[in-house]
Amino acid sequence: MHILDLPLNDVIRLKAHHKLALDTAGLRTVRHFLLLLPATYVDPSSPDTIDTLQPGTHASVRGIIQSIAVKKMFTQRTPFTEAIIFDGFASIRAIWFTRLAASRFDKGDAVYVTGKVHKNKRGLFFANPVMEKIGKGETALEQIESSAVPLPIYPRIRGIAPYTLADWREQILHSLPQTISDPLPAHLRKKFNLPSFEQALRYVHAPPTLAWASAARKRFAFEELFCIQLTRMREKKIREKEPSFIVVTPQKHISELISRLPFPLTSAQKKASLEILADMERPHPMARLLEGDVGSGKTLVAVIAALAVQHAGFQAAYMAPTEILARQHFAEFCKHLAHFNASMGLLTASECRKFPSKLEPSGSTHVSRSQLALWAKDGVIDILIGTHALIQKNIAFKNLALVIVDEQHRFGIVQRAALTTRGTSAPTPHLLSMTATPIPRTLALTMYGDLNLSLLDEMPPGRVKPLTHIVPPHKHTDAYEFIRKNITAGGQAFVICPRIEETNNAAGEREEEPSAQKKAALEMKSVKKEYTRLSEEVFPDLTVEMLHGKLKPKEKETAIQNFRDKKTDILVSTSVIEVGMDIPNASIMMIEGADRFGLASLHQFRGRVGRAGQQAYCFLFTESKNKKTHDRLTALVKAKNGFELAEYDLALRGAGELSGLAQWGVSDIAMDALKNLKMVEAARLEARKLVEEDSELQNYPDLKERVEQLEKKGLHLE
Ligand code: ADP
Ligand code: MG
Repeated sequence: MHILDLPLNDVIRLKAHHKLALDTAGLRTVRHFLLLLPATYVDPSSPDTIDTLQPGTHASVRGIIQSIAVKKMFTQRTPFTEAIIFDGFASIRAIWFTRLAASRFDKGDAVYVTGKVHKNKRGLFFANPVMEKIGKGETALEQIESSAVPLPIYPRIRGIAPYTLADWREQILHSLPQTISDPLPAHLRKKFNLPSFEQALRYVHAPPTLAWASAARKRFAFEELFCIQLTRMREKKIREKEPSFIVVTPQKHISELISRLPFPLTSAQKKASLEILADMERPHPMARLLEGDVGSGKTLVAVIAALAVQHAGFQAAYMAPTEILARQHFAEFCKHLAHFNASMGLLTASECRKFPSKLEPSGSTHVSRSQLALWAKDGVIDILIGTHALIQKNIAFKNLALVIVDEQHRFGIVQRAALTTRGTSAPTPHLLSMTATPIPRTLALTMYGDLNLSLLDEMPPGRVKPLTHIVPPHKHTDAYEFIRKNITAGGQAFVICPRIEETNNAAGEREEEPSAQKKAALEMKSVKKEYTRLSEEVFPDLTVEMLHGKLKPKEKETAIQNFRDKKTDILVSTSVIEVGMDIPNASIMMIEGADRFGLASLHQFRGRVGRAGQQAYCFLFTESKNKKTHDRLTALVKAKNGFELAEYDLALRGAGELSGLAQWGVSDIAMDALKNLKMVEAARLEARKLVEEDSELQNYPDLKERVEQLEKKGLHLE
């Protein structure tokens, strides 16, 4: 076995609580541990001066330890270490909540300290800083200038002291053989001037200069992007050989469907539909991503694809992320396909329906789940629309030829895979993934490297872009007045709040500044409280209703139906309405605590209003005075479309923060590399070349091993 794949336990002696902490952090093998890379490096030759430190900032200082001792306060049970560091002008305390630090340093040591500066009654102090010995006595401080090497700063692991980790790291690096097998082919290392795997491991943890560290990081990032691309392309190659259903395009029916619409298709919708129909005429499975901004009309494209499949005598399944959406799509499909003898089913946890019904020829009726499942299996139902319920074990199809996954980023990889392999018969169904989450180009190239892309880059005509305003607390009254006027003139408003109920108990309290977190939770406007306030104090003259995840399905439906029927003026809701909900008359989107939502979510919220061509407004309420927060919200005001916003989000926060990415198991360093279009394109190009040459990777055994590991981990997206 490769040394890097040995359990950590085999190379270092771990105590039970260490093992638990490492497991929790997902670090089980030597590889995991060594690839936990420094978050950043600091340069010890240019420290901050102690007398200018500000609380709340990160700082690095250099000085002599004046005293260091383990102390115990009677209010606290565990002892802590306190050191006083003096830099020639001023001194500062450093505190660790462990005894360990005391045994590693002595009075008189010259040290480098880096961490966050806090303040209490006794003045400024570092809490749990990283401290590194650089010599003994004053002279050491002066020598450092010439011999400074970058100091790596690692992400913390709960339950293990940084010093312990540093010891292990040193021990492992020391015992590492000189040549470790390297998955990256030699010709690529040469071409892009990348260090070997073994070199990179050493450079990244103990770099002689920053340039060496960044060369090492570049190598790890490239390797990962390259391997992801390879897995994608290998999968694509395999899938392209699989048999699928041949769906002949029913020209006449599709023309008829289009002619019944109250509007013409946009040219983007036409183009995407043609691409999909052409794909499905081939005997191999389609794998296509339909990407279109909120409101660009993706549902209709899906209806067209489903009609073709139904006409060919096969079945289609449509998976939506929420019950509300499944119901909405079911209604939409019934409306469009009623003339074509299509039979449709709705399958959610709380409700099953069939269309058309003998009892109500123009509507649908409730049926039992087991009856619906039977019909799906026997092929009586042509198009089955539902939520996750679609992928439960007892649901099978007779001849499932098309799987449509709406707002696909909402679903986990496993769920998507479950649906495409649902067909009991041999052929693989065609896959149409739809998303309104604009994905930056680099990300699309990497994660969806194996999907073909159809873009709805055009909005239906007559849409007016909503006007977005950031509303500070002192402008609330003005905004309310504006909303009242708009509603009086026939509009309707959504109010979004971040939480259902007020809670004292902020989940997942972090070590740092628990009080600030608690405060934030307390400040959160709850739907219930906001509902009461708006209906009783602010808008007693208007009708207000609320919608949140804890309502019963029936209650939810009533709330939405009332809003759709314009019986309600204002719907106060949690983020359950985020994706897909279509209420054409809604004209105002007001978001409480807007700073607490990601840009992608805010963009989705805003996409709920102005859908009938009216001028709509989006109000972002925020109490935050933070500059970064304001910049982020301003991006939302300014961005022309979701794609621009996604690029901005990527640049600002990194791909890891973009919604739905955490589940993909991509490392931080590769996420970071997604900002680098050149690297992504190079990795893609090289991966494609290699798959064309040697898709079995017979000439690259080390790479093959690595890629197969990834494939086993299930890093695929269908
Ligand atoms: P999304 O892409 O966000 O899923 P929908 O499919 O929900 O968008 O469509 C949004 C709205 O636009 C719906 O009310 C739909 O009827 C309408 N629509 C779709 N296509 C067109 C079109 N070509 N012209 C005008 N309105 C359209
Ligand atoms: Mg939609």
